Amino acid sequence: VKFVPKSSMGSGGTRFGNSYLNLWANCPRKWFNSHYRPVELDGEVYRGIAPRWTSENLLRGSLFHEGLAEWYRSGVRDGEDTGERDVDRALAVIQKHAHDRSAEWPDEGARDVEVSNTQILLRRYHDHFALGGAQPEFPQVRVACDGSGQPLIEREWEFSLGEGHVYTCRTDAIIYYRGVLVSLEHKTSAVPWMRLKTIPMDSQFAGEQFVLRNLFPEDPISGTLVNVVGTKKAAGKFDRELTKRTDHQLLRWRDNCVSILNQIQVAKMGFEVELQRGVSIERAADMWFPDHGTRTDHCTAYSGCEFLDLCQWAGREDSKLGMYTKREAA
Ligand code: SF4
Repeated sequence: VKFVPKSSMGSGGTRFGNSYLNLWANCPRKWFNSHYRPVELDGEVYRGIAPRWTSENLLRGSLFHEGLAEWYRSGVRDGEDTGERDVDRALAVIQKHAHDRSAEWPDEGARDVEVSNTQILLRRYHDHFALGGAQPEFPQVRVACDGSGQPLIEREWEFSLGEGHVYTCRTDAIIYYRGVLVSLEHKTSAVPWMRLKTIPMDSQFAGEQFVLRNLFPEDPISGTLVNVVGTKKAAGKFDRELTKRTDHQLLRWRDNCVSILNQIQVAKMGFEVELQRGVSIERAADMWFPDHGTRTDHCTAYSGCEFLDLCQWAGREDSKLGMYTKREAA
């Protein structure tokens, strides 16, 4: 593959990804809290807040992703995937990644439990998919390499959608699946059968296919292989599904992104006008960033929205803001 990381952008633009858009679509109020709520600290204004502790599910997913990336990387030698994966190398990466992110766990004990569980899960994955395992995936799954012989694992891509908007995404890997070029995405889930149902319509895979097909029209990927890995009570349950988007679906995806970005722009402007009129932050947010989560079940979905405390204490947000920290740079 001639893939060389490159950008379609000659100049700057606002960069955004799938989760940024999903936040808005699920609940504009949640988007506001995450990306736009003004926070004044030491005379500087920061935008957006985040819980002081990262959620257990996010940390678990991140540890497993890092380990799995190394597992796939370990089989590549001299620009070729040999299929010989080194599970010990992958387990060591999990340990190191957890150590680097220590501050995000409430204590060391909680961190060590998560490391141990994630390592057990990765070892099961290895026993299942490695050469000599229960269902060896090589050579049906082969990691593709770029023009310099480097594996196409954990790469960032970006593409302009026009009107100053730049969409960014990160692929877990680009692979040959049964000889055909596709992107590979790992998804950890405690309810993998429900995760599988969402794959055909998930906007993340549309975005990835839109960007990669536009960046590399000579080496077009034909779809995304979604690698669903069960966790908790479903640990050790592995499923895969190939998902493809038509040109019409990708066009709709693009227009939809621009529509959401325009809605965000209008809301930001409206909010600022209210502040200039002397309206409080909370009242101005009520006017421009509706709490759609209360209508889409998003407040309580999965382990619950991280801003539940703020929303449940409407009118007394000041007493709850101390539970959060600033998210973005000033
Ligand atoms: S608690 Fe519900 S309404 Fe509030 S930000 Fe979260 S999803 Fe939106």
